[in-house]
Amino acid sequence: MKQIENWLDFDKAHVWHPYSAIGADLPVYPVVSAEGVRIKLANGQELIDGMSSWWCAIHGYNHPEMNRALESQLKSMAHVMFGGLTHRPAVALAEELVKLTPEPLQSVFFSDSGSVSVEVAMKMAIQYWDARKQSSKQHFLTIRKGYHGDTFGAMSVCDPEAGMHSLFSDVLAKQLFVDAPESLFGEPCSAEEIAPMEQMLEKEHRQIAAVIMEPIVQGTGRMRFYSADYLRQVRVLCDQYGVLLILDEIATGFGRTGRLFACEYAGISPDIMCVGKALTGGYLTLAATLTTRRISETINRGEPGLFMHGPTFMANPLACAAGVANLQLLLDSPWQQRINWIEQQLWNGLEPCRDFPQVTDVRVLGAIGVVEMKQPVDMKSIQPQFVEAGVWVRPFGRLVYLMPPYVITDDELKTLTNAVTEVVSR
Ligand SMILES: *Cc1c(COP(=O)(O)O)cnc(C)c1O
Repeated sequence: MKQIENWLDFDKAHVWHPYSAIGADLPVYPVVSAEGVRIKLANGQELIDGMSSWWCAIHGYNHPEMNRALESQLKSMAHVMFGGLTHRPAVALAEELVKLTPEPLQSVFFSDSGSVSVEVAMKMAIQYWDARKQSSKQHFLTIRKGYHGDTFGAMSVCDPEAGMHSLFSDVLAKQLFVDAPESLFGEPCSAEEIAPMEQMLEKEHRQIAAVIMEPIVQGTGRMRFYSADYLRQVRVLCDQYGVLLILDEIATGFGRTGRLFACEYAGISPDIMCVGKALTGGYLTLAATLTTRRISETINRGEPGLFMHGPTFMANPLACAAGVANLQLLLDSPWQQRINWIEQQLWNGLEPCRDFPQVTDVRVLGAIGVVEMKQPVDMKSIQPQFVEAGVWVRPFGRLVYLMPPYVITDDELKTLTNAVTEVVSR
């Protein structure tokens, strides 16, 4: 299958893409390489990447230092099981994560993907309460419009409507939901707004293991930035009602919002935190769940005295080496200034979209820029328009958004925002 048409045909006939139908009449573009912020298509065209491959490729593609770290790790070992064995890349990455995340988070569990790290977080919370002889605490409370992944536990706490709960209703765990806050980032949260969360906790805390939320940015669910004050108050309520707080920083972690972790905006620390996506700079799939010493020690004291999870590829050395190199690159860079600058450029570039009748909102936080349309975009017509404009932008629903690699230049970012403005205006 050397001819590109042949393998593209095979792709179309046999291979699923994310949330897709096999054989669908939607374009899928063949990529041959990627370098810096550019993705090169088989026809030679180069696209400026506005997506960081879904929040991941923060330093761009084919980065010499990332490559060096992986090549060097490859020469010693690509993988070895983690049961009964350990290795420097895993320990070095765990050390770095413990150092960078809020101080109480001291214990690290590595897994293969964000969704699995959420499953792990949920199991930690249940095992913690079980060890404290409160085994009725097995449910989770969350806000609507959230997204936590595609596996069953994670799906059960996704938005009940967008999350297709009806399709899987017989097998999905029944969780508790309250409306997502409407107050925006930068605004205070009123007593009325927090009241549903408080009432639910007051009424149901005996069956709730944890509240789980995306901090500040509700990502895939609606790309919306909510009040840090709301998050801060949720932390207080969790403590008050004896419920753990799980924060899913999978999308927001590692600088994307302008802080290393979005929970820093609320000045709080979760009991359990999930990280993934940008953890390896977009090189390999890896996630981690972090928790406090109090929780890991309590789990040890319960039955069966172990945390009950252990993926085959746990702490894969190549992925961990990518993680270490990625964090080193990030911390050695003036990332905070970079993100502030990207934020300013996104505002400058996207703000004009506000004047279009088909646009309801333009919002920016850190290196995330969102144009919200009145109607869902037609992917079949809009995707080729972006490609034609020389950019890789992948809208969903009513949302056209940019989250470029942190290393993007002024001209490249202008090309991205101009393309969005241009395509959205049609
Ligand atoms: C992407 C994402 C996940 C799921 O991660 P996968 O690696 O796709 O399994 C979970 N939570 C949030 C907030 C995410 O953005």
